[in-house]
Amino acid sequence: MKTVLIEDQEQIDEIIKSCDLCYLGVIDPENRPYVVPMNFGYLDGYIYLHGASFGKLIDSLKMNPDACLTFCTDTVLAYQNEEVACSYRVKGKSIVARGTIEFIVDYDQKVDALNALMAQYTDRKFTYNSPAVKNVEVYRMKMDDFTAKEFGKYNDQTFPWMKKHGR
Ligand SMILES: Cc1cc2nc3c(=O)[nH]c(=O)nc-3n(C[C@H](O)[C@H](O)[C@H](O)COP(=O)(O)OP(=O)(O)OC[C@H]3O[C@@H](n4cnc5c(N)ncnc54)[C@H](O)[C@@H]3O)c2cc1C
Repeated sequence: MKTVLIEDQEQIDEIIKSCDLCYLGVIDPENRPYVVPMNFGYLDGYIYLHGASFGKLIDSLKMNPDACLTFCTDTVLAYQNEEVACSYRVKGKSIVARGTIEFIVDYDQKVDALNALMAQYTDRKFTYNSPAVKNVEVYRMKMDDFTAKEFGKYNDQTFPWMKKHGR
């Protein structure tokens, strides 16, 4: 099994587009790490996020906008020998990105961000009521400092059994 660095932007975009969730890591007000699952949108090299204007997450981000976003594709279980624990792998692709959260306050930019969020999940178009847009916190992180990796990519010669069994 191999772990492969992914550098091709198309493949990176594919990984992000295939995810329903990302994991947003922040530093909380007690200076401890805090990671939560989040829905997101992806547009023009930015990850867009939205959420409540109160709570530990937003308190953390307002205090320290440094953030880490992790994405992981659906996974596939693989093994070389069913009876050998250390031959098991969970195959998948993931991205770890670091950056600074920017809050979006302009109404129209918020709507664009919400559209980007919805576009991750559906082709349907939406309108939003004004209080909802005003009350929601919308923020984004630029995807310019990240690594993407593929885990459990097998080598045909090393693992002919797995290829035979389509794993
Ligand atoms: C599938 C999914 C999608 C989500 N999408 C979004 C989104 O797009 N935007 C958004 O704002 N939130 C989303 N959430 C919720 C998000 O994970 C946080 O729970 C939420 O943002 C509130 O965080 P908070 O720190 O402000 O909560 P607070 O109420 O301030 O947290 C209080 C305590 O609750 C616990 N806690 C908080 N969140 C979670 C959690 N997810 N799981 C377990 N314990 C928790 C922590 O121990 C925390 O200290 C999603 C959750 C799931 C499961």
